[in-house]
Amino acid sequence: MHTAPTMNQPAPCIAVVGSLNMDLVLRVRQAPGPGETVLADALQTLPGGKGGNQAVACARQGAQVHMFGRVGDDAHGRTLRAGLDADGIGHSGVQTDPVVCTGMAAITVDATAQNRIVVVPGANGRFVLDAAALDAALQQADCLVLQFETPLPQVLAAARRARAAGCPVLLNPSPIQPLPDALWPLLRTLVVNEVEAAVLMGSAVATPADAAVAVRALRALGPAQVVLTLGAAGAVAADETGCRHHPAPVVAAVDSTAAGDTFLGALAVALAQRQPLDAAVRAGIRAAALCVLQAGAQPSIPSRAAVVQSAQ
Ligand code: ATP
Repeated sequence: MHTAPTMNQPAPCIAVVGSLNMDLVLRVRQAPGPGETVLADALQTLPGGKGGNQAVACARQGAQVHMFGRVGDDAHGRTLRAGLDADGIGHSGVQTDPVVCTGMAAITVDATAQNRIVVVPGANGRFVLDAAALDAALQQADCLVLQFETPLPQVLAAARRARAAGCPVLLNPSPIQPLPDALWPLLRTLVVNEVEAAVLMGSAVATPADAAVAVRALRALGPAQVVLTLGAAGAVAADETGCRHHPAPVVAAVDSTAAGDTFLGALAVALAQRQPLDAAVRAGIRAAALCVLQAGAQPSIPSRAAVVQSAQ
């Protein structure tokens, strides 16, 4: 059954603990190989970071968002705060580091819309959870969204506080590293791409059939819901009702940057609205299909109105 998004559901409240980066986006015909130098056709400086992107994706899908993270006391940090303001995202939980610069990411996007990313953590690496501030946000939150671009002990501490507050935890373990044993049982939802799933599984995940095996195995480790995104091939999702492949629409993709973050934001909002997992995955796929039509990270994350319109 096709479930189109609606505009009249109540705005859920989502807390995001994660990274805020300034992205340097380099457009190249072909990404350089080892020892190779290539010329870029264009350079853009754009707000990014998995935490920031996912916060923006949640906000543009209609959620009230509270962001927790850390930026430097510099121009990039101030620009990132202004960007959060522009999307109506609360950033009193974003700390200013007096010493270290705002995080940065160097992103090449090639002619086939594939991206390659190198991240300088900067202030993100010195984020220390303000437990009282997070607890206050968790009292209202329908979901806590986490990634791995902030220090793992802080991610684990945030998940523990959410669990204690009865707030569902959604983790996107990117950049991937093995999850601490203590984190698995704290998760309600795990969202991974093919690369992350392969690391967690210890074997390649390339096809929807591989993905079905992976989501079932990952679900057995603790999360009630596991979603594996497959780029242009859509996503495979598993919960207590079974495992399903949801194809993505065929679109003329120009840049996949932030497709995963856009997918995750729309998924998180739908889950926070108590929608079933399959409906939430379809919402993610619809939003991400619009994202890949445009260049950049946050500029390409669509609004709820745009997603509703695309479904009509
Ligand atoms: P990224 O790191 O580039 O943001 P990711 O690797 O985390 O992305 P992907 O699996 O590449 O995540 O993409 C997430 C979702 O975006 C997919 O499940 C799909 O719905 C959508 N998507 C990605 N690429 C395309 C495409 N070429 N056409 C249509 N949808 C796409």
